[in-house]
Amino acid sequence: MEDIKLDFCKIRQKINKFSKTKQLTQIFNELYDLTLSVASQLDKNKNMEENMSRLKIKKESYNSDTSYIKAVSNQPTMNIKPLINIPVKKSNLKLSAIIVRRASEVKSNGLIHYISSEDKFSIKVNGHIIKGNIGNILKKGDDLVKIKDCRNGAECTNERCTYLHPIETRNYLEQNFMYKPSTLPFNDSFTKFGSADNIDVDFSNLNETTKKRLIDMYVHNMICCFTLLEN
Ligand SMILES: [Zn+2]
Repeated sequence: MEDIKLDFCKIRQKINKFSKTKQLTQIFNELYDLTLSVASQLDKNKNMEENMSRLKIKKESYNSDTSYIKAVSNQPTMNIKPLINIPVKKSNLKLSAIIVRRASEVKSNGLIHYISSEDKFSIKVNGHIIKGNIGNILKKGDDLVKIKDCRNGAECTNERCTYLHPIETRNYLEQNFMYKPSTLPFNDSFTKFGSADNIDVDFSNLNETTKKRLIDMYVHNMICCFTLLEN
């Protein structure tokens, strides 16, 4: 803040040499107040010190047509990669997303990311990285593959293993998408969570396995949602 005041003081001296018109002094004062107001706002920001050290008042020679002071922020521009149209699985439908290699590269910037090493879409909201893709909804007679988590997880070495591993996309059963209250005797393949009138009771009855499947399913739904919006 003191640096800014000092810079303005120097500019004021220069202006006085050129002209003593009231208009010029008024413009200067308005600019001065505005800059201090902006600086004060930045002050409230917890990153203020870092930002202020980058904020410099660049002085330009007086010109009657253009403003003679230009505030230049040297803050690095946000390094946002371009959005690329990514096909949703093998379809012709696409989602625009930022391509990253790993989940750890997903940023909380309001944009969909595509994790190339996992073939998953992802967003980071409230500190949570959620990721997934659209799985198959299996019907009677289909092979029941990639529905339940493999006990060995990422350590699984069985190439023919039909269970779900961390970087694979989960498949679902039709009844996974049908709600049944957790207080009624339906098996866990139904969705027993999500109805507003019973959400607290249903929540207390969830087990970890079901929770994981539900989160994957909601991400599946979210990707369906954006697919509807963007195509
Ligand atoms: Zn396995």
